[in-house]
Amino acid sequence: MIKVKGFAAPQPKAPLAPFSFERRDLRDNDVQIDIQYCGVCHSDVHQARDEWGRGTFPMVPGHEIVGKVVAVGKNVKNFKVGDLAGVGCMVDACLDCRSCNEGLEQYCENGFVGTYNSHEKSDGAPTYGGYSNAIVVREEFCLNIPKNLDLAAVAPLLCAGITTYSPLRHWKVDKGQKVGVVGLGGLGHMAVKLANAMGAHVVVFTTSPSKVEDAKRLGAHEVIISKDMEQMKSHSNSFDFIIDTVSAPHDYNLYLSLLHRDGNMVLVGLPDKPPELYAGSLIMGRRKLGGSLIGGIKETQEMLDFCGKHNIVSDIEMIPIQKINEAYDRMVKSDVKYRFVIDMKSLA
Ligand code: NAP
Ligand code: ZN
Repeated sequence: MIKVKGFAAPQPKAPLAPFSFERRDLRDNDVQIDIQYCGVCHSDVHQARDEWGRGTFPMVPGHEIVGKVVAVGKNVKNFKVGDLAGVGCMVDACLDCRSCNEGLEQYCENGFVGTYNSHEKSDGAPTYGGYSNAIVVREEFCLNIPKNLDLAAVAPLLCAGITTYSPLRHWKVDKGQKVGVVGLGGLGHMAVKLANAMGAHVVVFTTSPSKVEDAKRLGAHEVIISKDMEQMKSHSNSFDFIIDTVSAPHDYNLYLSLLHRDGNMVLVGLPDKPPELYAGSLIMGRRKLGGSLIGGIKETQEMLDFCGKHNIVSDIEMIPIQKINEAYDRMVKSDVKYRFVIDMKSLA
């Protein structure tokens, strides 16, 4: 077994604290990665605080992982020692069902194995995530990292990047379309950069007046303070597509009314309480409300290559792991510009 140092939430809502554990010895198709950086996703907060229920503790969060390959099993083909590699939200799936066969492992009909807060298919062992100095992952779930990008700022692409890239592609966002991004946090700021690179006219909805200038710098063509009903109304019936990244309960009907006829609104933010939805919000204008979960491995690689080509990374604030509890509190207050990334050297 491989000895690993990390940080874990010992029980729901308890602060994260140092935690030592073991990773499995390499199987023939495994890659061992020395983790250099790990992004901090709001899903880490939801799960470490057990806001979605069914959490398993102790929990080592982290699913925006980048680092260096230090060992490979004898059947590994696409990675060698010394390569950069990334791991996102999944570490396994059946790779045999209809969804897996279509490259959509995140919708694996037998359930994918999450990078943390999940259980291995082989022996039911709990999975531990990227707030740690090493991880062992089967090759199929490792990603190649473009060499031209800043490694720490690539980490958030493994969740925030793919979670916004996938719906933009699935709903065929293209040049000239009017695209709304609700919430300018980790996911939201990636949605802005990606939709801009795809040629869309990007409009940001934020509750934070302090983010208006940043939103423009990140690639928004217009910024709306979502509490200002006059500003909101002036965009009625005009959007082709809206992606909602907000982590807390809020009114979806308000945004649905901004869609043009046949427009799509897609939820990626996952608040802990169900929304109130009026049928009329959808009936009027034949509008559609959907959802989207991260993205498959093939599409994650496509997103990383797209970011390499367009020079897109996350705007990050680097923290030592000892500041993780403070970072969680700041994230809940929308006080992060725009993704915390843990420097794993701080674990040493
Ligand atoms: P984040 O960095 O905290 O960003 C969330 C943003 O939502 C905040 O920056 C804030 O933006 C806005 N917001 C927060 N509270 C609000 C409130 N009460 N009312 C209105 N707006 C509010 O979080 P994140 O990491 O981007 O994650 C966002 C959500 O996506 C989380 O629920 C997370 O679990 C979920 N998620 C889903 C997937 C998926 O596969 N679907 C993947 C990853 C994460 P402004 O300051 O601009 O208003
Ligand atoms: Zn995430």
